[in-house]
Amino acid sequence: MVKIDKSMIKPGDHIYSYRNGHAYSHHGIYVGGNMVIHFTRTKQEKLHKIFKASSGGRAEHRCEICGYESKTKLGVVKTCLDCFLVDHGIYLFQYNVSKENCVTKRPGTYSMQSCDTSDVVIRRATGLLDGKLEFGHYSLFRNNCESFALFCTTGKAFSAQVLAACFVSLIIIGAIVL
Ligand SMILES: [Zn+2]
Repeated sequence: MVKIDKSMIKPGDHIYSYRNGHAYSHHGIYVGGNMVIHFTRTKQEKLHKIFKASSGGRAEHRCEICGYESKTKLGVVKTCLDCFLVDHGIYLFQYNVSKENCVTKRPGTYSMQSCDTSDVVIRRATGLLDGKLEFGHYSLFRNNCESFALFCTTGKAFSAQVLAACFVSLIIIGAIVL
């Protein structure tokens, strides 16, 4: 995992942050101007710190910086970096990772594929935000933020996190059958 500082992020970068401790990672594409395009599926996970402090934990939240409303804006969204991070550290997704190096890395933090140029990545992310493009070819992947970001960077939707979860499930099922 490559942790980076906010000042190091470049437009077109595939970034991620951890939620619920380190239970899962949330992915997005930084498009410049302090904004991130990402795919969100849950209704309550993004609570801007300003609102957390001022609202006393009520359900309705609207970010004063980017206008993001965590309860009503679902699917592909464009938010400020603060809404994306929710106070957690920011990591840079790694591309062109060799087969040999894969074994030491956590699923959902790298790809063996190469990343397209930042122009192409931003164009795909913007197209998905505007509804001009679609990425959900499989229902399993449809609500996955990682496959969204990977589609932007490579043109293909693929989630290592989902595959890892499936693999674990198969082992459990296998153990029960045996
Ligand atoms: Zn915001």
